[in-house]
Amino acid sequence: MSNLEGKTALVTGASRGIGRAIARRLARDGALVAVHYASRQDAAEEVVASIEKDGGRAFAVQAELGRAGDVHELFLGLERGLKERTGSTELNILVNNAGVMGGVAAEDLTPEQFDRLFTVNAKAPFFIIQRALTNLAPGARIVNISSGLTRFANPEEIAYAMTKGAVEQLALHFAKYLAPRNITINSVAPGITRNGSPVFDIPEAVEQMAQLSAFGRVGEPDDVADVVAFLASDNARWITGSFVDASGGTLLG
Ligand code: NDP
Repeated sequence: MSNLEGKTALVTGASRGIGRAIARRLARDGALVAVHYASRQDAAEEVVASIEKDGGRAFAVQAELGRAGDVHELFLGLERGLKERTGSTELNILVNNAGVMGGVAAEDLTPEQFDRLFTVNAKAPFFIIQRALTNLAPGARIVNISSGLTRFANPEEIAYAMTKGAVEQLALHFAKYLAPRNITINSVAPGITRNGSPVFDIPEAVEQMAQLSAFGRVGEPDDVADVVAFLASDNARWITGSFVDASGGTLLG
C-alpha cells in the first residue's frame, strides 16, 4: 500500500469529513500531504498528527477560499511546506475537495448566497488548477469532488448542484489540455456521506438517508477516499475526463 511513495499531494478542505479521509488515505499510500483548511486549525493539526502517528508525512496549510487573494495565500503555504520538506515545489496530486452546501430553498436563495456557493465550489477549483499548472509534475493527478446531486434531484440544493455541474466541466476540458503532460483529471461524485453535520446524530434521519443508497446505508468518508486514491494511483493512468459515481448506488434511482 505504498504506491505513492515520493509523491506530493494537496487536498483542499482536508481538516474534516471526506477531505480528512482522503488526506489520511493518500498519506497511508506514501504521499507527503498538504492538509488544507479554512478556519479549523485545530482539526487540521489533528489530521496532520494522526497521519504522523501512522508513520506518514503531512503539513497544514490555511487559506479561506472565496476571499480575494485566496489562491495566492494557499500556494504560499503549499510551496513553503513542500520546499522545506522536499527541496522542490513539485505537486503530483491535487484534490479539489473543499466545498460548501446551500440548504436554502430556491425561492429564498439570495444573489449573495448564490455567489458564495459558486466562488468557493467552482471558481476556486478552476483557479487552483490554473495556479498549479506550473507545479504539476508529468503524470500528475487531479481529482475534483462533485456530488451525486448533478444526477439526482433535490430542490433545496439547486444552486449547489449547479456549482458541481460546473466542477464536472473542469475534468472534461482540462483533460484534453493536460493529456500531453500525461496528467489526468477526473470527477468523483459522492452521495450522502457521513461528516461532522449534526444530522448524522439523528438515527431516524440517518435511516431515511440510508434508503437512498442501493446498499441501504449512508456513505463513510473512507468509501470516497478509496476511490480518490485509486484515481490518484498509477493504476488509473488510462482514465481522464471522467465522472466516477461514488454514491453507493444512489444514482440507480
Ligand atoms: P465538511 O463540511 O465535512 O468539510 C468541509 C471542508 O472544507 C473543511 O475542511 C473546511 O475547512 C473546508 N472548507 C469549507 N469552506 C471553505 C472555504 N471557504 N475555504 C476553504 N476551505 C473551506 O465537508 P464534506 O466532507 O461533507 O464535503 C467534502 C466535499 O464533498 C465537498 O465538496 C462537498 O460538496 C462534497 N460532497 C459531500 C457530500 C456529503 O454528503 N458529505 C455529498 C456529495 C458531495 P474548515 O474545517 O477549516 O472549516
